[in-house]
Amino acid sequence: MSDQQKHKLEFIDRVLAEREAQSYVRSLQSIEPLDAVRVIKNGKTLINFSSNDYLGLSKHPTLIQSAQRYMERYGVGSNASRLVTGNYAIYEQLEAQLATACGRETALLFNTGFQANSTVLTVLADRRSLILCDRHIHSSLLQGIIASRSTLIRFRHNDLDHLETLLSQSQKKPYNRILIVSETVFSMDGDRADIDQLIALANQYNALLYLDDAHAIGVLGKNGMGLTAYRRDIDITIGTFGKAFGSFGAFVTCSQKLKDYLINTCPGFIYTTALPPAILGAIAAALELVPNLNAERQFLLQRAEKLRRKLQNSGYDTGASNTQIVSLILGEVDLVIRLTNWLESQGILTIGIRPPTVAVGTARVRLALSSCHSLEHYQQLIQAIETWNR
Ligand SMILES: *Cc1c(COP(=O)(O)O)cnc(C)c1O
Repeated sequence: MSDQQKHKLEFIDRVLAEREAQSYVRSLQSIEPLDAVRVIKNGKTLINFSSNDYLGLSKHPTLIQSAQRYMERYGVGSNASRLVTGNYAIYEQLEAQLATACGRETALLFNTGFQANSTVLTVLADRRSLILCDRHIHSSLLQGIIASRSTLIRFRHNDLDHLETLLSQSQKKPYNRILIVSETVFSMDGDRADIDQLIALANQYNALLYLDDAHAIGVLGKNGMGLTAYRRDIDITIGTFGKAFGSFGAFVTCSQKLKDYLINTCPGFIYTTALPPAILGAIAAALELVPNLNAERQFLLQRAEKLRRKLQNSGYDTGASNTQIVSLILGEVDLVIRLTNWLESQGILTIGIRPPTVAVGTARVRLALSSCHSLEHYQQLIQAIETWNR
């Protein structure tokens, strides 16, 4: 590398050195999947307690066969954007089925949840708008808010009194529009937003309500179709297929009017190749299965509750979790690294979550549970945690 080139890239050394000093450096770890809940890492079989595959559908034969059928019929690629020549009938069929299953007016497919959040918000708000969002929202939502150039104020996590104060203060200001943005299940805490109260506040202050249901879809709500399913007065919701649905992709549910608007304006819908047909096949098969998995969901949520109680009795802080995401909040990054290393030595794969993903002083081991974890898997997990010498 020439001296000039080295000089240009100096900022990278600085940033990485800073992260190294705080133990915040991220690196890719290679694993091979065995089944829905087991992987091989460095030649060793581990039980995976960090995947978002909450129902084990990523390895389900029905999804795999459906993906194969769609691929054989439609090819491996969709060749173009939906608005060019990529709009096969299967996309619109799936959207209609999704809207029905979610009890919402219409649905629109997106390639990923990240792409939906980071681009839909840019056409819902502009320089003259105000966006009030929960302090713990996902990075993809923040990307969209920042790109919209609207005024951003974050309310304290799940503190809707704080939200109401901000809404009331904003009434005197000349904003053209106010948006409220929240997740329904928070990805790092595993707690839930008060959706009734969010709807009431949005109605009272005439604000648009934007809810990200990524971790609820498949697991919570009527027939497992998310906490926003069958709810009126939520202007727009986001669901993803990369988590409990087991494959990939995302969707928005909203009114027909808003759907027409997104098709005409949203860059993340217009300027991208439509999802591959095989993925449509996997999603369509999952959509048939998911409503019938009530027993699996019940088992999952009961095990989560038992696990929380057990961990709390052993002195661990699981925060406000009341879903299939259970975080062990340890505070210091070094403790998190030591616990994840210990668990791995005991055959358990977990991932530590550190700043800047979560606030400084709240580093944690995030456990993501699956209905495919057996009672023996839980026993092994609990034993490993209880024998850890802090
Ligand atoms: C995972 C996640 C996303 C991103 O979804 P992808 O389809 O994986 O891009 C968006 N929002 C939340 C809250 C998430 O947890």
